[in-house]
Parts: sequence; C-alpha cells; structure tokens
Amino acid sequence: MPNNKKTDVVFKGVAASSGIAIGKVFLLEDDDFCLIQKEIPGNARQEELNRLDCAIEKTRSELEVTYGKINEVLGRNYAKIADVHLLILDDPSLKQDVVKFINEGVNAEFAVFKVINKIVASFENIDDEYFRERKHDIQDVGKKILSNLLGKRSRSLSNISGESIVVAHNLTPADTVTIRESMVKGFATDIGGKTSHTAIVAQGLEIPAVVGLKSISLHAVTGDVLIIDGNKGEVILNPAQETLAKYRSELALQSERRKDLEKLRYLPAQTVDGKTISLWGNIDNYNEIESVVKNGATGIGLYRTEFMYFNRTSMPSEDEHFENYSKVVRAMSPHAVIIRTIDIGGDKLAKLGLLNFGKEENPFMGLRAIRLCLKYPEIFICQLRGILRASVNGKIKLMYPMISGIEELRAANKILKKVKENLRKENVSFDENMEVGAMIEVPAAAIIMDAIAKEVNFVSIGTNDLIQYSLAVDRINENVANLYDPLHPAILRLIKKIIDEGHKAGIEVGMCGEMAGDPFYTPALVGLGLDDFSVSSAQIPKIKKVIRSVSYEDAKSAADQILTLGDRESILKVIEKIKITEI
Ligand code: PEP
Ligand code: MG
Repeated sequence: MPNNKKTDVVFKGVAASSGIAIGKVFLLEDDDFCLIQKEIPGNARQEELNRLDCAIEKTRSELEVTYGKINEVLGRNYAKIADVHLLILDDPSLKQDVVKFINEGVNAEFAVFKVINKIVASFENIDDEYFRERKHDIQDVGKKILSNLLGKRSRSLSNISGESIVVAHNLTPADTVTIRESMVKGFATDIGGKTSHTAIVAQGLEIPAVVGLKSISLHAVTGDVLIIDGNKGEVILNPAQETLAKYRSELALQSERRKDLEKLRYLPAQTVDGKTISLWGNIDNYNEIESVVKNGATGIGLYRTEFMYFNRTSMPSEDEHFENYSKVVRAMSPHAVIIRTIDIGGDKLAKLGLLNFGKEENPFMGLRAIRLCLKYPEIFICQLRGILRASVNGKIKLMYPMISGIEELRAANKILKKVKENLRKENVSFDENMEVGAMIEVPAAAIIMDAIAKEVNFVSIGTNDLIQYSLAVDRINENVANLYDPLHPAILRLIKKIIDEGHKAGIEVGMCGEMAGDPFYTPALVGLGLDDFSVSSAQIPKIKKVIRSVSYEDAKSAADQILTLGDRESILKVIEKIKITEI
C-alpha cells in the first residue's frame, strides 16, 4: 500500500529537556469508552453484580501497585494521588448507588457510568476550586473501573512494548512516574512550559522532551517515527530519510559526548587559568540526589521544597520536613544543601484545604513565596523548625525566595530568630551558624543589592523570575517565549550589578535559574564573575566542560565589552568570539 503520510512535519514547542531522541511514537490517549445501555433480566443480575465486584477488586489492586511504584520512585507526597483514588473507590455510597441501578436491570458498565456522571455533575456547582477539581479524580476512578469491566487496558505507559517516544496531550505525575522503569526515550506534549512539572521531571530523568507543542497528539499516531530535538525545542514527525540520517549522526555524537562528559566527574570546575567555580545541582526531591552526585555536583544549590506540598490533601508536618531534609543532607554530606523555603502561591495552599484564598489574576505577582510565608507565619515556622532540626544532620544553608526589599528580609529573619530561641528553650539542637541567603529574582532586589548583601551570607540569582519580571515576559507563556531573552543588555547589567555588589560585601554570588544551566551562557557568566552555578543534574557535566575550556581573563574582557553594548546582536557576536580551548 502506498504511504501517503507527509514527511518531515516540524512542530515547534518549548525545549523542556535537552538531547535528541528518535523512535516510534507511543500515543498515550485519553481513555474513552463506548458504552451501551442494556436491559439485564432478573436472573442475570447476580452475575452482573459479581462482574462489578471483580472490576472493583481489580481496580483496587492496580491502584495499590501504582501507589507502591509512585512511592518508590517519587516519594510519599506524589503517592498520595493514588491514595486519594483508593479512598474514592472505597467510598460505600459509590458502590451502593451502582448496585441499586444493577438491581433495577441496568448493566454494570452503564450503572457505573451513570453514578460517576451524577457525582461529577454535583461537583460542578462547588465554588471552591480545589474541591470542584476533585471531579477529575472521580472520573479517573470511574474510568479505571470501566476499563476493568470492559476488559480494556487503561491509559498507562506500562503498555509500551518497545523503546518509544511518548506523545500525549499532557502527562500527569502518575504517568511520568512509570517513565523511569519503562522504555521511554523521550516525550512530546501539547501543553506545558519550560518550568512545568513535566519539564522538570524530564530533566531529572535526563530524557529529551519538548512540551507546549499545541497539537502534536492530534497528528501523531502510535507507530509513526518521531524525532525529538530537545535542544531546539522542536519535533519532526515522519522524518524524511535525509533528516533521519542527519539526526542519527547527531545522536551518535550525543552519546560520544556523554561518554566524554562522564570522564569529567571527578575533575574540578576550574577555568584554564585556574579560577575555581562551584558547580551544584538543583533538585526538587530526594530521588534526584543520586543522579546529581553521579554527574559530579559538589553540593545542592537549590532544593525547591515546594514540591513537598504538591499532590496531597494536607500540609506537611514539622516532622515530615525534618525527616525529608535530614535524608537529603545526609545523602549529600559532606557537601552543603541550600534549602529554599517554599515558593508557592495561595492557589497551592487552597488546594491543601487549609486557607481560604481567592483566585488571583496575576499569581506570579501575587501572594507567593516569602510574601505568603510572612502573611501566614505558622506555615513558615513549621518549615523553619524542620530545617533547623535537620541542620545537625549535615550542612544546610537556608534561602528565602522572592525577596524584594530589606523589610521583607528582616521580617523573615525576625521569625527565624524567634524559631531559634524557641528551639533553644526546648533544648532542641540545631546548627547555630547556619548561613542564610536570599534569591535575587525580583528586579527591585537586584537594584538594592548593596543593601541586601550586607544582611545575608550569600545570594543566588533566580534568572527564571528575574528575566520574566525585568522584561515583563510571562515565563510560561509560549506566545511571548521569543521575548524571554537572557542576553538582553538589561539582564546582563543586572547580573553584573548583583555580582559586584555581592563581592563588595564579601559574599558569594550564585545562580540557580535556567540560564546557569545553558552552556551557551557559561563563558559570559564566568566573565561576569559568577561564583557558583546550580543546574539540573544532566547539565552539570556540560557546564563543567565549558568552565574547564575557557580562560577567566578572556571571558572577563569579553564580559566587560558586553556591558558596554545595548543590543542583542552585538552581544551575541562578542560571546561567540570567546575562546574555547577544547579539552
Ligand atoms: C528562578 O526564578 O530562577 C528560580 C530558580 O526559581 P523558580 O524557577 O523555582 O521560580
Ligand atoms: Mg523563582
């Protein structure tokens, strides 16, 4: 049969995780079922009830397996999603209503469908967004029971039979958890931005991924060939022979480069003229430590603790904080771990059912991070106590996100001081010398860096936010992604200011935003005088390689020149000329 498929169809999206992957598509479709209502005669109803029991039991054991897997791979917080599904399944009224319909002569599938729809409809009128959104969990459980009744396999990556590229409209944490143990070589999704959950998971697993492709799931079908170019942020569906050949050689180069990079693991991140730079990893959960260490990080420069608050129905307790941080710092010992206090917005806490937040029009500029902690000190105190208690188990540095002024910094430190006093009264030991730093990610903080530097032990530049706020470009909006430019002269000058003011005050200046993890910017950042880079695990060897290939003096004179320039083109030209000595 002739193949009428169009070749070389390019979709552009957001580069979520670097690298090239080539493979056959596994289309992860949303579950949908074709249901028919049947009249069940009286003498066949018991058989229908038995089928229902079997399907519920099968669903229960599947959910228990999922819970175990998620717990093992991503930890207890993520596993709570499966826990919620088990609670819904065990709700007696769900089964009672289905049984009632079956006893009236409705077939089991249709009875489940009717009951689930009725519950979902009743959720539509709930004002509280968090509770309203629980309807999706109910639908998920309903689909699982239905697929067992119909003998259909439900949406799962474990159905993959060979090495594949996963294409989906979206991937949930429950989907991504199975990626590690399956044969997924890369993935492409319709929605998501560079900082979406999917992107962060892909980077943690070192799988090439492109997100925000808008409609790839409508065009690709299982079995199509797909190239993921996670460097450029594009995918090529059904590539022509020449394209395939080009990417195959790129892929071969990629694995050569990986092998080369592995050799750098124990070598210092030092420029050719001897300037040593710290190279740390960014993590958002304990499980990422293994790969961060494997890639040669000498510390954690950003632990995004807000991930502890996701996918759960209650706030983490002080003991949970303590245990979590103790585990992380023990694993990283003797290296330091910079624990960033939570950077979440009110929407997340509303989802935990504890506070009554309204929806914010501009959540990025809303009640977020340190602002939220200062407004609701009980949440902050609980986390600070956990961090301080864990500080005896390794080296912890504390960092506040979204600091915009001195008053905010002092208010946070005042709470910290009080927490320490209370711990002393309770005879609970902690590291009395724990360093405290601030993220510089709000332009106002960068501008008054001289004042901030006097009151902290270190700072870390959060370019993800610094760029979005300075250039007024929403960091997750693909429509303005072309305007999100780390090489904008204003950004480079702000970075320089932060570094210089930090050094004047005698403190180290690091960077933990995505800019630090892109090797293209490394020579310029070295030249600007950055002391520490903190990046996702896969980027560590790549950044180290560049650091070891440039001379600080060369990079510095390029950076001095860049700072006199007012446009991107001229800046690019100077950066491209910085001498790289291949090692
Ligand atoms: C940043 O803003 O650069 C940063 C590292 O923080 P986050 O991406 O978590 O906002
Ligand atoms: Mg930030």
